[in-house]
Amino acid sequence: MSDHLPAFPASTILGYPRIGPRRELKRALESFWSGATTKADLAEAGAALRTRTRTHLTDLGLDPQAAAIPSDFSYYDQVLSTAVAVGAIPERFGIDASTPISLADYSRLARGDAETAPLELTKWFDTNYHYLVPEIGPDTPLRHAPGSAPVAEFAEAQATGVHTRPVVVGPVTLLALAKGTDPLARLDELVAVYQQLLAELAAAGATWVQLDEPALVSDNGAVPAAQLGEAADRAYRTLAATADRPGILVAAPYGDLRERFATLAGTGVEAIALDLVKGEIPDDGALAHARGLTLVAGLVDGHNVWRTDLHAAAERLQHLRAAHDGPVSVATSTSLLHVPHTVADETDLPEQLRSWLAFADEKVGEVLALTAGPETAPEAFTTSRAVREDRSGALGVRRDEVRRRTAALTAADTERADASERATAQQERLNLPSLPTTTIGSFPQTGDLRRARAQRRKGELTEEQYAEVIRGEISRVIELQTELGLDVLVHGEPERNDMVQYFAELLDGFAVTQHGWVQSYGSRCTRPSILWGDVSRPAPMTVEWTRYAASLTDKPVKGMLTGPVTILAWSFVRDDLPLGEVADQVALALRDEVSDLEHAGIGVIQVDEPALRELLPLRADDHQAYLDWSVRSFRLATSGAATHTQVHTHLCYSEFGEVIDAIDGLGADVTSLEAARSAMEVVPELAEAGFSRGIGPGVWDIHSPRVPSEAEIVDLLGRALAAVPDRQLWVNPDCGLKTRGYTETVESLRNLVAATEQTRASR
Ligand code: GLN
Ligand code: ZN
Repeated sequence: MSDHLPAFPASTILGYPRIGPRRELKRALESFWSGATTKADLAEAGAALRTRTRTHLTDLGLDPQAAAIPSDFSYYDQVLSTAVAVGAIPERFGIDASTPISLADYSRLARGDAETAPLELTKWFDTNYHYLVPEIGPDTPLRHAPGSAPVAEFAEAQATGVHTRPVVVGPVTLLALAKGTDPLARLDELVAVYQQLLAELAAAGATWVQLDEPALVSDNGAVPAAQLGEAADRAYRTLAATADRPGILVAAPYGDLRERFATLAGTGVEAIALDLVKGEIPDDGALAHARGLTLVAGLVDGHNVWRTDLHAAAERLQHLRAAHDGPVSVATSTSLLHVPHTVADETDLPEQLRSWLAFADEKVGEVLALTAGPETAPEAFTTSRAVREDRSGALGVRRDEVRRRTAALTAADTERADASERATAQQERLNLPSLPTTTIGSFPQTGDLRRARAQRRKGELTEEQYAEVIRGEISRVIELQTELGLDVLVHGEPERNDMVQYFAELLDGFAVTQHGWVQSYGSRCTRPSILWGDVSRPAPMTVEWTRYAASLTDKPVKGMLTGPVTILAWSFVRDDLPLGEVADQVALALRDEVSDLEHAGIGVIQVDEPALRELLPLRADDHQAYLDWSVRSFRLATSGAATHTQVHTHLCYSEFGEVIDAIDGLGADVTSLEAARSAMEVVPELAEAGFSRGIGPGVWDIHSPRVPSEAEIVDLLGRALAAVPDRQLWVNPDCGLKTRGYTETVESLRNLVAATEQTRASR
């Protein structure tokens, strides 16, 4: 530890959006990948973004000299960047780890290539951000990679006169999230590598480093809870004992450290960042362990977009300051990665709604206002109070007819006929072959479609002309599926810019932003809608398109809706009503849509819930309450369906363990799931849990452009059929195809159908 550690800054943020206010990083990455630009162009774009961020955060008021500005850039993902910095590069990629990794190799880890599958992608805690799963087995190399991104980025900032705080994922979280036999067994070796990284940062002049340890607020990972606490204790005692190092801030975003707070406090680290939006102020007993430590109070929500109640936050800050014997700083609860750049860009939002919001830049202002306090920043506090009052009484926030309908719900509203009775009635109606083939809904979103949407927005296309473009696309997609020989067809979702936003635009109670993009993974961004009021459905939302698709074929066409949990998970949700109640409002709107689809003659309806696992609370004792309302809302949306209507659902993430029973509880007649990257692991898991309805484990990983071979799909189907009978198995890709191109889509689906035929013939 350096002798004179400067005090931790009074105000900071745990991280800032990396994608750029106009998604500059997305463009730079995608043109590099397509070969249109060089690695130098990409590096230049990255540097320009980092410079912009440092200057901008300085202008917003963060101290450019005091480690208040985080250096947290990553070209794709911070977990991947940290894994690379500690040399944890799986051998199968054949990358020479002794020199700093090239952008091409870095991209290959994330995206794979013709020969090599990429690292697995999965959701980051209870957010819609995805990270690349490190592969750390007994033999994976772990070695300090000098000149890695955190060091280079810090030096780059220093050179421009800004003293930043490098941010890396901490060693416990890196291993807790890794795949491989007992990654935690490598902890001591890994910590030794982090010691070298810390020494290199110190030598470069860094005074503080931030190690993100969100695994410590979660019970959901593969690592048993007791082991995590012990690992944190061992890792941080060793890191704290490093001879030459910056001050260590351990950040614990997304939840409450509970007993691990005292553990961390006793290790010798200098600072701990607490998420006080999700978690509580430690009690006096716990604080006694933290005497002299800097506590960084995460009072401004990094994960939602509402303005902070500054009075309430200031009161908690006061409480913490009084109870804690040591310095207290103010920060966001998490990185601001999860919110858009600035409300100032949203000139199309209604003025009233706009006044209730705070995105990344506005949150920096809130952190500074809290640090200053009501005496020094009276205006911010007055506005904060006025906004809360305005919001609670605003028109549409509470609508009696919506509240009456949810209040009148009974258990009967979530029940359907017996599953086997449904299966018989559905097979009679649909007459499907064994191992039916289908897709998850969307087909590639072509440039023409995006152009048409833009033209419609600008008024260059009339509604009728736009509808003509969409109908043209639907008929092409139906024709293609017919030619490929798929069994249950879809209309392809060409009318949807996004599976949540499409519905948000048609439901009352939502608003959509113009520039509110947040990174989902790599270059992928989403633009979450803002759910601000009571939800209802003024008119049918999908019926015309689905009916049109069905009119073009004799095969069944699957109607396609997004489920209530996913609509909530991928929107910024109001914070003034329990989530379960909001979910019921959305579910009732969808229930009406299901009924309208049935009346239009649609016999198969899929309600996607890819986000069911994502919202699972991080602590085991909160699971049941969540699963109760989430499963109920799905059932509420779907159980108005007739016995002979086949209800599908689709879920995509890679770890189903904790939600296996909930998946069964949804009661869908057919459930398609992501499975290709994990070699069908989920099928035996479901079978063991007694799941007896249709299962469609994905046989094509659609997250990368790689085309799966026929043999590979036959192999996957064989694995699935070792666990479930033929009559239960469906054949489909992992997820929708909207981000894929037509070339790989046609090739992959051709292989999928051929592999199914081969498997059918062999049974
Ligand atoms: N039906 C959606 C689609 O195919 C499902 C997408 C998802 O699960 N994320 O695009
Ligand atoms: Zn999916």
